[in-house]
Amino acid sequence: TDRLLGGLRKTSERLTENLAGLAGGTRLTDAQLDDLEDALILSDLGPRAASRIRAKLASARFEKGVDEAALAEAVAEEIAAILRPVAKPLEIVAFPRPQVILVIGVNGSGKTTTIAKLAHLFQEQDYSVMLAAGDTFRAAAIGQLRVWADRLGIEIVSGAEGGDPASIVFDAVKAATDKGIDALIVDTAGRLQNKRELMDELAKVRRVLGRLNPEAPHDVVLVLDATNGQNALQQIETFKEVAGVSGLIMTKLDGTARGGVLVAAAEQYGLPIHAIGVGEKIDDLRPFDPDLVARVIA
Ligand code: GDP
Repeated sequence: TDRLLGGLRKTSERLTENLAGLAGGTRLTDAQLDDLEDALILSDLGPRAASRIRAKLASARFEKGVDEAALAEAVAEEIAAILRPVAKPLEIVAFPRPQVILVIGVNGSGKTTTIAKLAHLFQEQDYSVMLAAGDTFRAAAIGQLRVWADRLGIEIVSGAEGGDPASIVFDAVKAATDKGIDALIVDTAGRLQNKRELMDELAKVRRVLGRLNPEAPHDVVLVLDATNGQNALQQIETFKEVAGVSGLIMTKLDGTARGGVLVAAAEQYGLPIHAIGVGEKIDDLRPFDPDLVARVIA
């Protein structure tokens, strides 16, 4: 089956495993509600979403009796209610162009791959795209981004390893403006080990962008690795502080039982979720469909 379904099903198996033994009358008992809440927390939905869903289901009546299917359906509906308000694709709307999309996230989260996937998505929508290699700390990151750019046939602005990201971004915005590019996607460093330094670096990038266009960056997209579970939430917290975050893309939902963290993120932060990563290939970025995700998780 589909990769997303395959991945999230691991999450759901874990959830239903924990829900087993709940069958009973037309209402959930307090003990059953406790079990449900625990199961939701164990499935990485987080305490807030878990207690919200518990409260909803405490007042629910199950006319045909509580069984696994009825409960899964009720839980899915509550998860969907949490996810629907945050589902928001990344759209190219900036005027004047280019729309500057800053992509942030820790190393290894799937940032580089996601940038390539996004570029490909925009190309499919007939937008012109340019990349800026703003992670000058890792030579490998520049190289990897270049490989993707070549493969996609798009221009990339980069500098030397150890160069100043702000000056690369400056050059990139100029080039993209001159060429009438629709979307400029900017890679950034992700070494959270040195938070102060990263914060200064990203602040400088933002300052330079803002001087060229007060609206830029138009988007600050945080890439999160779902396999990190609850740690992903801590990353949201940190990056909000370090760089500001306008939306999320969660990667690696194809191989993890920790997909519930998406629900926790939606409940706790209400940040737009633009898309989800379900594999390593260029077209493995999916629109975020809250009802589908909710049904698969529950
Ligand atoms: P970066 O260090 O944040 O730039 O991360 P990369 O883009 O280099 O990705 C790190 C690893 O995760 C690579 O092996 C990618 O192929 C892999 N990866 C990225 N996104 C996904 C995804 O959605 N699913 C899976 N299974 N792997 C992914």
